[in-house]
Amino acid sequence: MSPKTLGRNDGSRDVANAIAELAQQAPATLAPLAAIAYDYRWAWEPRATALFAAIDPEMWRRTTNPRHLIEAAAPRRLAALAARTEYMAELRAVSDAFFAGAADPAAADAGAGPVAYFCSEFAIHAALPIYGGGLGVLAGDLLKAASDAALPLIGVGLAYRQGYFQQRLDPDGWQHEYWVDCAFDRLPIVRVGDRDGGVLTVSVPIRGRDVRAQVWRLDLGRVRLYLLDTDRDDNDPVDRWITSRLYVGDRRTRLTQYAMLGIGGVRALAALGIEPSLVHLNEGHAAFGGYERLREHLRAGTSFDDAVAAVRAATIFTTHTPVPAGNEAYGVDEVEAVLGRYFDDLAAPRERLYDLARLRPGDSGEGLGITPLALRTSRAANGVSRRHGEVARAMWQPLWSDRAVDDVPIGHVTNGVHVGTWMAPPMQALLDRHLGSDWRRWRADDARWDGIAALPDAELWATRSALRAALVEYARTRSVLDRLSRGDTPEYVAQAAEVFDEKVLTIGFARRVATYKRLYLLVRCPERNLRLLADVDMPVQLVIAGKAHPQDHDAKNTLHAIFGAKAIPNVGRRVVFLENYDLAMALRLVSGVDLWLNLPRPPLEASGTSGMKVAMNGGLNLSVLDGWWSEAFDGENGWGIATPEGDPQAQDDHDAAAVLDLIEHEVRPLFYERTAGGLPVRWLARVKRALRTIVPQFTAARMLHEYDERMYAPPTG
Ligand SMILES: *Cc1c(COP(=O)(O)O)cnc(C)c1O
Repeated sequence: MSPKTLGRNDGSRDVANAIAELAQQAPATLAPLAAIAYDYRWAWEPRATALFAAIDPEMWRRTTNPRHLIEAAAPRRLAALAARTEYMAELRAVSDAFFAGAADPAAADAGAGPVAYFCSEFAIHAALPIYGGGLGVLAGDLLKAASDAALPLIGVGLAYRQGYFQQRLDPDGWQHEYWVDCAFDRLPIVRVGDRDGGVLTVSVPIRGRDVRAQVWRLDLGRVRLYLLDTDRDDNDPVDRWITSRLYVGDRRTRLTQYAMLGIGGVRALAALGIEPSLVHLNEGHAAFGGYERLREHLRAGTSFDDAVAAVRAATIFTTHTPVPAGNEAYGVDEVEAVLGRYFDDLAAPRERLYDLARLRPGDSGEGLGITPLALRTSRAANGVSRRHGEVARAMWQPLWSDRAVDDVPIGHVTNGVHVGTWMAPPMQALLDRHLGSDWRRWRADDARWDGIAALPDAELWATRSALRAALVEYARTRSVLDRLSRGDTPEYVAQAAEVFDEKVLTIGFARRVATYKRLYLLVRCPERNLRLLADVDMPVQLVIAGKAHPQDHDAKNTLHAIFGAKAIPNVGRRVVFLENYDLAMALRLVSGVDLWLNLPRPPLEASGTSGMKVAMNGGLNLSVLDGWWSEAFDGENGWGIATPEGDPQAQDDHDAAAVLDLIEHEVRPLFYERTAGGLPVRWLARVKRALRTIVPQFTAARMLHEYDERMYAPPTG
């Protein structure tokens, strides 16, 4: 062990103990199952989940919690599995794949120290509700890619007990929210202990009180994620609430979350004995961590300017928010109410601290913004698509008032998605058969990707049809349950069992119902929509899902309006709204649809990632040319809509009509044109074009590689 590892108290021992304890619940030969359970890599390894499902398929489906499954399994059942040769052989194979080549994480970061990746949400698995949407999915995918690539990286976030809200629509289509407590102590994660057998805590002065946070550790292949949790008996009840819910409506409570994530996160790393070589702020929520790192330098006697320079030299920042309102700012009084005592302890003049978070230093009337703070304390910054890079440079140019917009030092790294998570197993198997299993490691510019053009049409179509059929089955089951639980009429419930048809062109629209995503465009031309849905020659069916933020009343009205159409004949059978959009549902949707709609108002889609997931599965995109699609669309790999500049009403009119025109006159005829053998050959050519142009390029592996080369590597010269 290196001296560095001896000094750490990073929870490795707690994980080992937890695995040993869980292993005792099963016959000794099944011990590797316990180790797999405590490594969330199982979440994207179908062979690992198959091992758990074999224990009790029903319980696995309901909980998807391998720790709980092993604890609750009947001993006789486990003994029977241990006696099965094939099961044991598969267990050994999976365990070897998991752990044989696993680098010792301590060795991995014994060199320069890992990158500490701070984010307010992480989407790792549907049963761990610490994410709300795209930002969390991106962060989760990046951690998974870092594990695949053995890149030393550590995630830091918050352990929201109640996570993001659960959605329920009432029979009139109004959204209601409720929250469920997640039993963290039953998940395959551990609470980090201290050296004396107690619980490791860090404390941050927030609102004048010392708020203590404990730290959960989640292992994900070669990567670890640490989550701060203030729900402790020794905290004031108000402070226990800080890490309760994601994106709470009250801005002052959000401010306490940002303080805990940033300052608490930096303190937690120190307590764990982890010395990051670089901090990556993924969005500005953790920007207050910059003050804490400044404090460390000031305490060591460094001057203020040198301390700021030192923090900057070891921080990079990714911005995701092209809407000014999304970049939160707080009045000095609001920040003082939360962090006044903390600032007292920081040996620096207040105005200098404030100025770091201002667009215009010295303007005492200006509040403090988390994005300016992140930008001023980072050596490099980036947006998340080429288009968003341009938008971000224009938006933050005031910080570099001596520079032209084009020279503002904000670049871009276009988002990508984790293939192992988002490409459905049948699609992965298809590529394995025709490209060889090596394709997962090919770089984006590898010419071997051209092999996609040679995929046999019949096999590709069979795969697509199977994925669509699985979605139809899923939509039926979910709709029956949704309708029953909201108290719909028995007739309407009965219809749910007959919704959709597995041969029909299936269109999807699912994402957060934020106003800029313009879900309402789907109901803007009711007569044309109805004609489309009533057509029997070339039918279409539409699946919709998405949560509206509890405070977003416009979005809730949109949901209500969409829902109001359910009484119209045909609509009930051809249109389905699925409640409670989450990670698990997203995989069903993005892999099953033929066409994915994306209608953000440009330039408000920083990147968008769900269209990438669709393309990974052989679906096609019909999207406004914004975010990632404005760099991915090549005229042949889907459909693009060029929104006219100017008046929002005119934009809506144009885009709503363009969607219908394209579906009616291009998408439908192409999908239903069948040649010899009943195959839609020209449709499949477009699918192959999409696979060829998108699969190699828009992956989390490519994204991580770019971060590593362009952002993490120390600047030269
Ligand atoms: C991929 C994903 C998103 C991102 O959606 P975009 O509209 O593409 O930004 C949001 N929520 C879930 C559950 C996802 O899987």
